[in-house]
Amino acid sequence: MRKVIILGSGPAGLTAAIYTARADLKPLLLEGPEPGGQLANTTDVENYPGFAEAIKGPEFMDVCKAQAQRFGAEILQESVVSVDLSRRPFTVKTTDNAYQCQALIAATGATARKMGIPSEAKFWGYGVSACATCDGVFFRGRDVIVVGGGDSAMEEAVFLAKFASAVHVVHRRAELRASKIMIKRAQENPKIDFIWSTVVEEVFGDEAAGDKGGVSRKVTGVQLRNLKTGETTRRPVDGVFLAIGHTPNVAIFSGALDLDENGFIKVQEPSTRTNVEGVFACGDVMDPRYKQAVTAAGTGCRAALDAERFLAAQE
Ligand code: NAP
Repeated sequence: MRKVIILGSGPAGLTAAIYTARADLKPLLLEGPEPGGQLANTTDVENYPGFAEAIKGPEFMDVCKAQAQRFGAEILQESVVSVDLSRRPFTVKTTDNAYQCQALIAATGATARKMGIPSEAKFWGYGVSACATCDGVFFRGRDVIVVGGGDSAMEEAVFLAKFASAVHVVHRRAELRASKIMIKRAQENPKIDFIWSTVVEEVFGDEAAGDKGGVSRKVTGVQLRNLKTGETTRRPVDGVFLAIGHTPNVAIFSGALDLDENGFIKVQEPSTRTNVEGVFACGDVMDPRYKQAVTAAGTGCRAALDAERFLAAQE
């Protein structure tokens, strides 16, 4: 029986672990299938305060993990298969064990949707990215594409246009799903153009360049296919930004937690309380808007403080 169990090991989960450990709640953190979360697949992190020089995503997560362990957080590399939130103590089953807890912090994150072509995985973090805010600065004076036709695609395109020499929005239909104001902003930007009814079939790159040339050096181009005419074309680009949505990792909660219309866990703002008393949510699994390491860490802190207060009230 644990006072608090944290699910997920990105910045939200690890921050919750640091705070609950320092509050002497002896948290158990279950890392899940992707230890370190999305940062485990990120190259340079330059926008997290406290690091004058860039830090590699995995290294950053290792430091956060060591920090949590220093205060007594127990961190296990186990993946949760089911959670019973119907009564307290809650039961958390992993592939190897079953645990019980009085309070649960869900920090299971979200997974950026991928196009599903092998070359996108090969160049992930080396020119293929799902976060313009994180990686846009590496593409100063370069040519990039943004894939998608929603608000994120418009937002990412406008943001990237600050750095890139040209931004081509590649959308699979001839009509955008984004809101009018976001479309207007993108369309009025002279650096942004649109490639309609088109998908990316292949990403090409210079695999030998690696880290030496910086993350922007690896991708060299894409093959596009027009879905209406079937015509394929090659286009030289330096970066491919995916903005085709995120999928929040909520399957293990199997309907027990209230979700918003996009499947993210609903919290009772400004707290991190969910609809189940004693269950708190933080990080990208409850935040479709900001999706940053630093905002995830912020909500992780809030969830830890909410859990601490909840447990104190129970006692
Ligand atoms: P979204 O609205 O689901 O849009 C995803 C886009 O990607 C769609 O245009 C979709 O095409 C396309 N797409 C999906 N799968 C694809 C695939 N496999 N290959 C190619 N294209 C694919 O996601 P989002 O833009 O991330 O927005 C998520 C939510 O956050 C929305 O509610 C949005 O309004 C909100 N948001 C708001 C703001 C803001 O207000 N500032 C900013 C960002 C996001 P189709 O159109 O053909 O389906």
